[in-house]
Amino acid sequence: LAALVWISVMAIASPCSLPLATEIAAMVAAQVDCIVFNKRTLTIGKPVVVDITLLKNMKPKEFFLLVAAVEANSRHPLAKAIIEHAKECGEDKDNFLLPEAHDFDLIAGRGLKAIVQSKQILVGNKSLMIVHNISIMDDAKKKLAEIERKGQTGVLVSIDSELTGIVAISDPLKPGAREVISILKSMKVRTIMATGDNWGTANSICRQVGIETVIAEAKHQQKVKEVEKLQDQGHAVAMVDGSRSNSLALAAADVGIAVGARTGIAMEGY
Ligand code: ADP
Ligand code: MG
Repeated sequence: LAALVWISVMAIASPCSLPLATEIAAMVAAQVDCIVFNKRTLTIGKPVVVDITLLKNMKPKEFFLLVAAVEANSRHPLAKAIIEHAKECGEDKDNFLLPEAHDFDLIAGRGLKAIVQSKQILVGNKSLMIVHNISIMDDAKKKLAEIERKGQTGVLVSIDSELTGIVAISDPLKPGAREVISILKSMKVRTIMATGDNWGTANSICRQVGIETVIAEAKHQQKVKEVEKLQDQGHAVAMVDGSRSNSLALAAADVGIAVGARTGIAMEGY
């Protein structure tokens, strides 16, 4: 039966590799009874833009060029989705040219800012807007809540201190993720999801996949603390994560499973 559980985890952590299989063997040995999944290990991992709300009079193409120019400086999966969408908006996908961005700033856990075509652009979540004193109108708040209820992520964009657009980005659950969680539950393995994404989106994803414990809007250090807290309660904890920047939490767990193509995680983090 235990083997079944780990094969299921492997299904989530696909594509399976030899190092992963070794990790799973280690998990069985460690008698892991608690697994913390990063949100992105439960989803397909290819976020796409599914909706856009423009709050000011501006052409979508013009809007996306500005936003993509800022996102060109980020490695976040949300950035990839936005750049890909900007390409689709243009006439010639292969000769795609973005305006230049300067004075670029990355605000951890919140998003980005930069100057493009002499405009100050902010791209990120609600708290990025709040710390920059950008007011979020009731209509925008409603739209954002609607996006989060669906388990999508709403990316807010302000241009010259005015909220200008909301981009809804979707990353659907992996097929089989729900089943894996239900098998783990039947084995009395506690499942937890941790993410830097907002509470609304995180709760919705957890409801869909069947995970009861949610840790949202979490900074990297907080993920480490959560792992340690579970260990203090006597749990043997496995952490499944695909982001290089979370390697500290992976290392803190009894078993850390680094998922995905970014194999540098194992070498850089420990
Ligand atoms: P996670 O890796 O779990 O997404 P992060 O700390 O990297 O956590 O990001 C937290 C939140 O900050 C994201 O969910 C998003 O709302 C916002 N954010 C971060 N980077 C970007 C980006 N490049 N573009 C838009 N929003 C971003
Ligand atoms: Mg991140």
